[in-house]
Amino acid sequence: MARAFNFSAGPSVLPDEVLKQAQAELLDWRSSGMSVMEMSHRGKEFMSIAEEFKADLIELMAIPDNYKVLFLQGGATGQFSFIPQNILRGKTKACYVNTGAWSTKAIKAAKNYCDVILSASAESSNFTDIPNVSDWVLDQDAAYLHYTSNETIQGVEFQEIPETKGIPLVCDMSSNILSRPVDVSRYGIIYAGTQKNMGPSGIAVVIVRDDLIGEVDKSLPEIFDYQKQANNDSMLNTPATYNWYLVGLVMKWLKAQGGIAAIEKQNIAQATKLYQAIEISDLYSNPVDKAYRSRMNIPFVLKDNTLDKAFLAGADKNALIGLKGHRLVGGMRASIYNAMTDTGVDALIDFMVEFEKTS
Ligand SMILES: *Cc1c(COP(=O)(O)O)cnc(C)c1O
Repeated sequence: MARAFNFSAGPSVLPDEVLKQAQAELLDWRSSGMSVMEMSHRGKEFMSIAEEFKADLIELMAIPDNYKVLFLQGGATGQFSFIPQNILRGKTKACYVNTGAWSTKAIKAAKNYCDVILSASAESSNFTDIPNVSDWVLDQDAAYLHYTSNETIQGVEFQEIPETKGIPLVCDMSSNILSRPVDVSRYGIIYAGTQKNMGPSGIAVVIVRDDLIGEVDKSLPEIFDYQKQANNDSMLNTPATYNWYLVGLVMKWLKAQGGIAAIEKQNIAQATKLYQAIEISDLYSNPVDKAYRSRMNIPFVLKDNTLDKAFLAGADKNALIGLKGHRLVGGMRASIYNAMTDTGVDALIDFMVEFEKTS
């Protein structure tokens, strides 16, 4: 069977090259006589894999020296709680911006640990835009301000880094990390689950400015303590070693594509094409304000939702999979992460045009 074009929101498409390399190295990694899955995480072979991944990520994102780069478990969802537990630093409040389903979840978790100040919310537009940053409530006593740079479900993406007037900025970058250049020095924390743009699930990447960590309550389990994990190369316990290796391969692949600047060009071209196809059709529409449309997750609805089933069945026949929209917004969603090929996007657009003609 040939590989389908996978538009799933996460876990999501991986580059063929990466999967083939993993396959080639599955039984015997670089003449070590063992699979990466079988290696001690403290052995020299795995340590070299771990170090290379970290170095590649630092290079790709140009992460400054005063940041710790951690590879943790518990997903991005775990960080919704670990962030207030780690960086409140004796403060009692934190600012949150609500731009969709993932911000909503982060806010709910944070309320267990601090007073949440809702700096801004797009709920009244049903999460189809982003409130003007100049109107945000910025409480100078807040320990940090949290936002979600790309709302994976609603398909809303920040096009610029918000200005917080000195409040440390914390960003859930799960679904658009490494898709465009970002100035890491503007952030207190960037975090992401790996299963969208970085590889398979199983690891949460946390990039944290070192002055924000080290002051935590003793009740916090040490594997969730950013400072202790930083002191132990993120290996206080056995990490998800094989997933770590795979995300490392994805970093090598990304470097071979020309890095983030090159992949951003591809992402812009693919998203532009797909939004145009939606715009010019009478059948498909996307409700998001043009200024905030996501390059990664493109939701669209059919004018007549009784056609949804036929659309998905036809897509499946054309090897276009993972297109069913999230139940919160309905319709369809095409997730076109870094590893999605131009061929895949073209095949989707061709199918959409054909389906509109014949339905
Ligand atoms: C997928 C996703 C999450 C949840 O990630 P888990 O690793 O499943 O916890 C959180 N935030 C955003 C923006 C996501 O896209």
